[in-house]
Amino acid sequence: MSSLLLPFAIRLSDGQLVSATDVPRGAACNCICPGCQGALLARQGTEREWHFAHVQATDCPDGYEKSVHELAKQRIQQQKLLLLPAIEASAQGWDAYGRLVEKKQSVMEARPVQLDECTKSRPRGEVTPDLTGFRKDREILVEITVFHRLMPEKQSRLIETGVPTIEIDLSVFKTQQATLERLDAELFENPRNRRWIWHPKLEEAKATVQAEVDAQIKAVQAEWEAKERLRPEPMPKPIWYQVRNATQFPTEAPTFDGRRWRAGLPEEARIATAIAELVSRTGISEDKVLALTRALTSRGMLEDITPTELATRWSHVLGLEEQEMALFLIEADYVL
Ligand SMILES: [Zn+2]
Repeated sequence: MSSLLLPFAIRLSDGQLVSATDVPRGAACNCICPGCQGALLARQGTEREWHFAHVQATDCPDGYEKSVHELAKQRIQQQKLLLLPAIEASAQGWDAYGRLVEKKQSVMEARPVQLDECTKSRPRGEVTPDLTGFRKDREILVEITVFHRLMPEKQSRLIETGVPTIEIDLSVFKTQQATLERLDAELFENPRNRRWIWHPKLEEAKATVQAEVDAQIKAVQAEWEAKERLRPEPMPKPIWYQVRNATQFPTEAPTFDGRRWRAGLPEEARIATAIAELVSRTGISEDKVLALTRALTSRGMLEDITPTELATRWSHVLGLEEQEMALFLIEADYVL
C-alpha cells in the first residue's frame, strides 16, 4: 500500500479534486491533501505516473483512500451518470436425493442511467449516503467503498430508507495505482464492481426464486417418500456374508439373526430354483438335496428345530458348509 502514490488533490482555488495532470508542477499546483489537508507538490516526472507529494514529509494514512473516494463522488456528480448493476436473484438448496436445486431470475440487465441531479453527502433520515441521485421523481442512493467494507450498521440504515441503493466497490485500488482514467473505467464501465444493497424488485425476485426452490425440494421430498413406501424390504445380506463377519457362528446366531420359519412350506418351484442355485454354486448332486427337501413333508416337522440347526444338520448330510445351507434355506423361502 505504501507504494501507492497520491493521485488526486484538492485545488485550493475552487475546492475541486484534480489530477496532477490538471495543475502546474511543483508547489505552484496550489493543492492540499484530502486526508491531512497538508500542502502538496505536483510531481510531473518521467519515471512514475504523475502524482502529488506532501511538501513536508508526513504520516498520512488516509490521503490516498480519501482522494480516490472523493474523486469517485465528484466524477459521478459531474457526469450525472450512474451505471446500475443488474437486478438478479438466485436461491439454492438440496433435494432429497442430495441434488443441487438452483433457481435464478434476472429482472434487469446492468445499464447506465442519466441522472437529472446528483448531490453529495445529503442526509437521509439517520444515514448519510455518499451520493443521492435523482431521476424524474425517483431517487437512488449510492455508497462507495475503497479500502473499507460497508459497515453492517450503515447498510441496515440504508435499507431502512426504503430507497433503491447501490454499493460501488473500488477495492481494486487497494493494490492498483489509481489514476483518473482507471477510476472512470471502474465507475462508468464496470458493472461487476457494484451491487444492489436494496431494490424492491430484487426483494421480490429473491422471494420468488426461494419459493421455487422450496417448492421443488418439497415435491422431490414427497416423490421420494412415496417411492420409499413402495420399496420392498431391503434384500437381506447373504448369510455367508454375515458368517464371515461374525466370530461365533452358528452358536451365537441360532435363528439366522432373528429369522424364523415361515408359516408354511415354500412352493415346489421356489425350492427347485434354490436347488439349481445351490447346485451351480457348489456342484452338489441335485438328487441329494431333493432327498432332503422332499423328506420335509409338513410344516409341523420344523416346530422343534431352528433354521440354524437344520442348516447344520443338512450341511453334515451333504458335506457342505453351514453357510451354504443357510443361504439355501433363505433362497428357497423357508425362512422369514
Ligand atoms: Zn495527507
